[in-house]
Amino acid sequence: MKPAVFGYQQASSLAEGLSVLVSNQGSAKILAGGQSLGPMMNLRLAQPELLLNFTHLDELRHVRESDTEVEIGAAITHAEIEDGKVPDPSAGLMRRVAGQIAYRAVRNRGTLGGSLAHADPAADWINLMPLLDAVYITIGPHGVRSISAQDWMQGAFTTSLNDDEILQTIIIPKLSVQARSSYYKINRKPGEFSEATAGFLVDPLRQICRGLIGALDGPPYYLADAAPLLSELQLGQSQEVMTTHLTDAGLEPASHSYQLHSVALVRAARALAKDHGAGR
Ligand code: FAD
Repeated sequence: MKPAVFGYQQASSLAEGLSVLVSNQGSAKILAGGQSLGPMMNLRLAQPELLLNFTHLDELRHVRESDTEVEIGAAITHAEIEDGKVPDPSAGLMRRVAGQIAYRAVRNRGTLGGSLAHADPAADWINLMPLLDAVYITIGPHGVRSISAQDWMQGAFTTSLNDDEILQTIIIPKLSVQARSSYYKINRKPGEFSEATAGFLVDPLRQICRGLIGALDGPPYYLADAAPLLSELQLGQSQEVMTTHLTDAGLEPASHSYQLHSVALVRAARALAKDHGAGR
């Protein structure tokens, strides 16, 4: 199929683009890499009257690094993260994950902000960012908002972003050289969306031991303290803690999805044990 007729405008500044977005609320959509919006328009699941492009603006392509965090503009592409063109606050984890998103052609155009705004539960950044304790900065007619990654996703393809707001920046705290991490996803073949995702992040210097269960029906399930689950999985003990977390994540025991997620968790725990961190 082909998309319905639409207009196209390149914003000359963030302020100008925002005012066009506000005055066309409901009929305009932001175009980033077009890797999700394009297929949706081709299928006529989305029929915006106007596409507004911000991807070339410095305000959405900036990268800033301080001693404690890295700020990444929403229009930075998956490929730029994969290629190390932006500083990696996550001791290598973001680069590894970026390289597993879709295919290189998609990664060349798809953006960090576009993926987070689209909020596909099976996508990668939407699952990874809560594990990294990221914060999103949005801008709209009523000013700037700061939203934690844990509060961002409300449901499948639904976020706390309003129609007249733009996701501008993603702020990610820096991990220490002692950080170790794992990220495991199950998909039919490389490049396809995940059917079950799991990850762990341990940073003794920052007193972090977190976990995630992703590719669920809605937002990822986040474990602020994954230590009991990790010791159970790494010692090969009974799966009591895992069962509790998988059930709390909304997975029905013995279902196909439950089995896939338990395999993803076990493999992510094994991968974590093999990761010796960037500083060793
Ligand atoms: P667009 O498609 O341009 O926009 C998506 C949505 O976000 C639109 O509603 C748009 O209005 C909104 N939006 C975009 N930018 C902003 C902003 N700054 N502020 C507010 N709203 C905004 N992703 C994965 O994570 N893992 C995969 O394995 C994977 N596999 C894929 C395989 C294929 C074949 C394809 C085509 C895509 C795949 N994707 C995958 C999705 C891909 O990563 C997309 O790049 C991403 O989901 C959307 O990013 P985009 O920049 O293309 O956004």
